[in-house]
Amino acid sequence: MILCADIGGSFIDFAVVHPDGRTEHRRSVPTPLDNAPAFIGALVALCAPWPDMPLHIAIAGVECPDTGIIRAANIPCLQALPLSAHLRRETGRIVRIANDADCFALAEAHFGVAKGHRNVFGVILGTGIGGGFILDGRIVPGLGGVTGEWGHAPLVIPPPASHDQESAQALVPLFRCGCGISGCLDTIAGARALERLHLWAGGTPQTSRTILEAWQTGDRQAGRTLDIWLSYMGAGLAHVINVTGSTIVPVAGGLSNAHALVDALDEAVRARILTTTSGPLLRRAALGADAGLLGAACLGLDIRAQN
Ligand SMILES: [Zn+2]
Repeated sequence: MILCADIGGSFIDFAVVHPDGRTEHRRSVPTPLDNAPAFIGALVALCAPWPDMPLHIAIAGVECPDTGIIRAANIPCLQALPLSAHLRRETGRIVRIANDADCFALAEAHFGVAKGHRNVFGVILGTGIGGGFILDGRIVPGLGGVTGEWGHAPLVIPPPASHDQESAQALVPLFRCGCGISGCLDTIAGARALERLHLWAGGTPQTSRTILEAWQTGDRQAGRTLDIWLSYMGAGLAHVINVTGSTIVPVAGGLSNAHALVDALDEAVRARILTTTSGPLLRRAALGADAGLLGAACLGLDIRAQN
């Protein structure tokens, strides 16, 4: 059995996970956001019934491999805190931490839709976009703890004039991204960004859900917005596929509930990659909200395999 926690900006989900993916002793407590001792205390209390077992954590943040400090924009109390070392000191147990998008991709590779694939790039289309790259069943560690962040880098530049003279050239602005760069895919990709893109492209204020519904019923304005979205997202993800050699892309997050959007993005990606595939590359993820916990469990399975 493996102790796992999935730490987000709202809740800490906890479970004891079996190697086959079954979970028990599930708990969910609010994440203490501004109080580091309360945050540590919550984790210590959740694990207390299993004093000697390692703890594996999926977190909405990035652990610096050199300092152990977590960068998590939504959990301010973690600022400057080397969480795993702190927990190890408090509890005497081994603690291993990974980014939650990486854990989602890892879980899908072990238990979900990407089972059996060597190169897996998991994509989250949520409020923003995220990703995780899995090779041979393991998270690929990266510079500063970062891999799979395909949403950030200035990629949204005006397309060539011949591309879509009517709409695209003047319509896609260099929005400033939360990461500090302007023109990241993340500025047009997620649910809120899609709503902003729709407004910018001449649409009326709508939720991402109603924009997608209108698109599917053939609405011309929503069609223009989605043409722009698919063009940029398809290009960005095609680049990722060419670089990582991924043979499957599990897709999760709120926008993935629109099946037609995942299908259309798959088509846009496959039209832009260097190779051809007989079937879809993008597949809706299988594990839902449990992916973080199950991915954390995979970190534990990996440690066992190494010993
Ligand atoms: Zn960015």
